[in-house]
Amino acid sequence: NGTQQAAALRFEESARRIAENARYIAGGVNSNFRLGMVPGPLVFERGEGAYLIDADGNRIIDYYCGMGATVLGHTPKPVIEAAQRQAEKGILFAGQMPIEYEAARLICERVPSAERLRFGSSGSEVAQAAMRLVRAATGKRIIVKFEGHYHGWFDNILWSTAPGLNAAGPEDAPTPAIGSRGQDPAAGDGLSILGWNDLAALEARLARGDVAAVMMEPAMCNQGAIAPAPGYLEGALAACRRHGALLIFDEVITGFRLGRGGAQERFGVTPDLTIMAKAIANGFPVAAVAGRADLLDLFADGVLHGGTFNAQPIAMAALVATQTMLTPEHYERSSAHGQRLQDGIRAILAEEGIKAQVVGFPLMFHVAFGLDAPARNYRDVARADKVAYSRFAHALLKRGVRALERGAWFVSSEHDAAVIDRTLEAVRGAAREVA
Ligand code: PLP
Repeated sequence: NGTQQAAALRFEESARRIAENARYIAGGVNSNFRLGMVPGPLVFERGEGAYLIDADGNRIIDYYCGMGATVLGHTPKPVIEAAQRQAEKGILFAGQMPIEYEAARLICERVPSAERLRFGSSGSEVAQAAMRLVRAATGKRIIVKFEGHYHGWFDNILWSTAPGLNAAGPEDAPTPAIGSRGQDPAAGDGLSILGWNDLAALEARLARGDVAAVMMEPAMCNQGAIAPAPGYLEGALAACRRHGALLIFDEVITGFRLGRGGAQERFGVTPDLTIMAKAIANGFPVAAVAGRADLLDLFADGVLHGGTFNAQPIAMAALVATQTMLTPEHYERSSAHGQRLQDGIRAILAEEGIKAQVVGFPLMFHVAFGLDAPARNYRDVARADKVAYSRFAHALLKRGVRALERGAWFVSSEHDAAVIDRTLEAVRGAAREVA
């Protein structure tokens, strides 16, 4: 019985090494978001296309995809070779290199809002840069942020990213929820937290006139994989215009994943500023804040933006190679595979009698157990049965398929027909185990 045999993967060597890690690395991992895995965090020896090979020698089909970064899989040869060639020229010059012009040109040509940009190293960092720009440009302080949206781990923005429903307050007036022990409670004073996909609430808040910018994931992908309601993005932009606020799209997940020009291209709404990271260089540490030239030019007019590693040459070379591989054919091919996977999971869960919503985009979708209808916002998706889904994710991992505990699936160009077939077989076995 293939299903039972496939359910036999063990992770003892990973567990042993995580315990060993903890001697020198706090908690055994270098990001809190790596702690959540059941049965525990894994140690990987190497990647190979759609696969990861872990310390126990398991070959695992990976749908974490570097938390959404590795849109070309784990080992795209042209990207690796470009990075190697660049590394041989030297590591960091604290000056400009020709490769960063090419990198910036490619991003500005592809992302509709990007007239100019600045590179950074992480999404959290460029979120800060965007917040500084909009406050400088408008002279106002408040940033509207939405429940369930995540824009990095810094004190002034880590609010209401995944609040417990018992502490979240009324849906039309959420109680701001702090994200971490040790966080400065006063750092949330510059925010106003709203529910997403609710234009009337946004309009009412903007009418107070003190908002510098509205920041959002244009498709909500940290919780669920939720498309904006028809007209919501257009309405948000128009409301911002009416009330003298700017619009920031956080495309750290959606960028280069919902399409080459991101969610803004897919939905046809161009914000004032965009932040990008993750897939921009297929996992090399590159991020960008991009947008209207007059806003970006404030960085040459008294608004400070620094960073020793900004436009790191090896990462820039990886970005150029990544963007070169991100052709329209790439999106066509990998989207077809991703859509088949998504449809296959939906069908199997239904056949096995598991109530679930499987929704999203071809290269990033979400599976929520226990919901009767697709989620429209955080309050909906927070009602999904996370305990049951976590059991399902564990059952998948035992069958050699690694997908995020919170229900998100990231697909790369290496997830081809054969990989999808194997995945769906594991989905069948896992569904039977937990049904
Ligand atoms: N914005 C979004 C939408 C994200 O998903 C993330 C990370 O997951 C960030 C910002 C922060 O990016 P980073 O982890 O590179 O700091």
